[in-house]
Amino acid sequence: MSSFRFTNLTRQIEIGANCYLLEIAGRRIVLDCGAHPKAEGRESLPLLEHLSNTELDAVILTHAHQDHLGSLPVLMKAHPKVNAFMTEPTRQLADAMLHNSVNVMMKRQESGEGQTPLFTHKDATACTRRFQPLPTGKRFSLNGDRLGHDEATDVSLQLEDAGHILGSSAVLFEAEGRRILYTGDVNFLDQTLMQGARLPDKNIDTVIVECTRGATPQPEGFTREQEELRFAEAIREVFARGGSVLVPVFALGKSQELLAMIHKLRQKQLLPHCPVYIGGLSTKLTEIHDRLANASSRQHVGLDLLETVAPFTISGREINNLPIRPGRIYALSSGMMTENTLSNVIVSQFLPNPAHGIFFVGYADPESPAGRLRSATHGEPIQLGASAPSEVLRCKVDTFGFSAHSDRDSIAAYLEHTAPRHIIFVHGEPQAQEWFRETLQPRLPETQMHTVAPGVPLEL
Ligand SMILES: [Zn+2]
Repeated sequence: MSSFRFTNLTRQIEIGANCYLLEIAGRRIVLDCGAHPKAEGRESLPLLEHLSNTELDAVILTHAHQDHLGSLPVLMKAHPKVNAFMTEPTRQLADAMLHNSVNVMMKRQESGEGQTPLFTHKDATACTRRFQPLPTGKRFSLNGDRLGHDEATDVSLQLEDAGHILGSSAVLFEAEGRRILYTGDVNFLDQTLMQGARLPDKNIDTVIVECTRGATPQPEGFTREQEELRFAEAIREVFARGGSVLVPVFALGKSQELLAMIHKLRQKQLLPHCPVYIGGLSTKLTEIHDRLANASSRQHVGLDLLETVAPFTISGREINNLPIRPGRIYALSSGMMTENTLSNVIVSQFLPNPAHGIFFVGYADPESPAGRLRSATHGEPIQLGASAPSEVLRCKVDTFGFSAHSDRDSIAAYLEHTAPRHIIFVHGEPQAQEWFRETLQPRLPETQMHTVAPGVPLEL
């Protein structure tokens, strides 16, 4: 069996961002090209200098979250011949996300806080013109030609639904008798909108697997249904004491999941028909979800979120003077409450008021403002940004387990069942990767497990 090479192009072993180089059968494929959520300017880019003297054959974009997409226009500009493959929903979402990134970078530069934008609207448009959407479950060549089931080629690729957000996919490569699967971000369990992933598990040689939640045990007896009930009850309690609820959310994925959950809980009469507020980018991305409500593999097929839940859109200009009225849900980005985002600006009105609630529903970096608030002590002052006022934390803060990433046991069960010859751990902190290794090595004694240092090729 011939060998292939895998290079981790991220800057550290951490959750951070995603970008990897796969070299097989003389072909070079880049897997995702994200921007680091905590870094600014060129520091946020992956190690693209490792690709500067390299002709690329294809780029795969697994989904449109910033930590997989954010640096793609820079890569595509430096490699003017290569095309990028993704699903059709990811193509549409990525287009909106990239142009939003340009707006954010330009605003930061104008305010004197940010560096020169890494790319312009023109660069983003030039990048998305070279996007080639592919259907899931079908084999293609690296030129984007459809292949028959057994049709031979040097390297074939096949996208598979990954259950993480709309359009998210894993990718299966076949080359020289080896089947290599990159999971991207994956969720094996159903969410409110997304259906859980069913990834290929036969004759897989290598799995490149995300480890986001490897250091996070699932609470004993956890079920999503129970968690939804607990969430609805917590909101009703806030409303009953005359407060409002702030739910910091990612604009892409978590906003739409939350809108769908609100719809579902209203239908079951577990939540009242209260006003819901979302940000401008969330509205734009929800429009794309609604446009594709019948086309993609999801639950609540046909549900039009904007029409059914009828959220109000808040702009960046309105957020500073927005009066918080009782009995409302503010589902505002960003999920990590990054400075100057809607959730970060509005939070100072929530913190000192014991009637209100701030409910977290997904991942937050422990050092981000959201991460710091989650571990803050009730009754003590907290400051969530350099320009933000310090407030005493008196409102209720709680966290709910609605992650879009698989819990670690589901991923471990998939890997154990698949029993590949190699597992390459990516997109996880060192202790998360270690949990997978310690858990799986005794169950898969024949499998070689790899943690890959940045920029050092792994030959398998
Ligand atoms: Zn993601």
